[in-house]
Amino acid sequence: MTQKIQLPKTLEGKTILIAGAAGFVPGHVAEFYLNMGAKVIGLDNFITGTQSTIDILSRFEKFEFHQCDVGVSLPIIDEKIDFVLSLASPASPIDFSEIPMEIMRVNTYGTWNLLELAKEKGARFLEASTSEVYGDPEIHPQVESYYGNVNTVGPRSCYDESKRFAETLTHNFNLKYNVDTRIIRIFNTYGPRMRPNDGRVIPNFINQAIEGKDLTVYGDGTQTRSFCYVDDLVCSIHNVLFSNDHTPFNCGNPDEYSIKDCAEHVIKFLDSPSKISYLPIGKDDPKVRRPNLSKLQAISDYKPMMGFEEGIKRTAEYFKSLK
Ligand code: NAD
Ligand code: UDP
Repeated sequence: MTQKIQLPKTLEGKTILIAGAAGFVPGHVAEFYLNMGAKVIGLDNFITGTQSTIDILSRFEKFEFHQCDVGVSLPIIDEKIDFVLSLASPASPIDFSEIPMEIMRVNTYGTWNLLELAKEKGARFLEASTSEVYGDPEIHPQVESYYGNVNTVGPRSCYDESKRFAETLTHNFNLKYNVDTRIIRIFNTYGPRMRPNDGRVIPNFINQAIEGKDLTVYGDGTQTRSFCYVDDLVCSIHNVLFSNDHTPFNCGNPDEYSIKDCAEHVIKFLDSPSKISYLPIGKDDPKVRRPNLSKLQAISDYKPMMGFEEGIKRTAEYFKSLK
């Protein structure tokens, strides 16, 4: 019988370094671990992160922040570190064309620097990879053993390929130096504190619906995505961190929507007068995405808790609060 993960009740006395702490997902992860009693050391260069997230985290006494580019060098930290979470990377398709070199740098040199730190400190290391490693998948839903269908020279390749390298690097630090590594593959995640203008489908649709503008569906809207509310993602990250498995885990929510259905749901949930307009779709936009979660669910009690309607409404409340 498979042994289930034992989750700690508290992380009092533990120190967690989080690269990318000013970002959307990393900010929520940092808050979760501060609430569990850990000390959190956040690193960020604000390329896509916000000071407001650091302000929220700074309300916790045990939060410490260093502004730095982890792809260049890390600050000198004399104290012990128990966990290093490599969560720093721009993740939106609009970033892929605007800041490709920065994306490749953070996922290669940045991950390398963070792995060296984990090795030096004897810390457990977690790399945030992505469902993008599956590219435009030929099998559906995507299972971790699928190697992917990825273009090395397409518009998304700065992200896909550097994340694939980050996974390989993590794997080899485990093999060669026995660093205690974990790898997660995150599927499309949304929630409060996303950048309203980051170009991803959920912030676009919610803000368009709030403003009564047309929702911009790219292509014919038959491509699918499976959307995970950020609290559920944090829960799955926590489970993987406390597993004892070095191989990749899918993290997300398997509820799958076509983008056209997604637009119609957002309009309905937010009671918006908006209509839908259709725009050209980008090259290599994956046609389907849905995580097979059997691997994580075999070793944990993880199941996504947030329904799509409630998740969209909560995220909309956040965006309204910014206006
Ligand atoms: P985000 O852009 O909100 O957060 C990333 C943070 O990393 C930002 O604060 C940014 O300023 C920081 N950062 C980037 N490069 C850096 C560098 N060189 N040095 C220091 N800080 C740097 O993005 P997110 O959506 O919260 O994604 C967080 C992680 O999760 C990323 O690794 C991303 O690839 C992964 N991921 C996210 C999703 C998703 O749907 N949100 C899906 C798959 C994978
Ligand atoms: N998309 C869309 N309209 C938008 C933004 C995105 O139709 O305003 C589509 C995009 O083409 C893709 C899907 O929504 O098929 C998800 O896009 P997102 O940028 O959220 O991230 P991806 O999952 O592609 O990395």
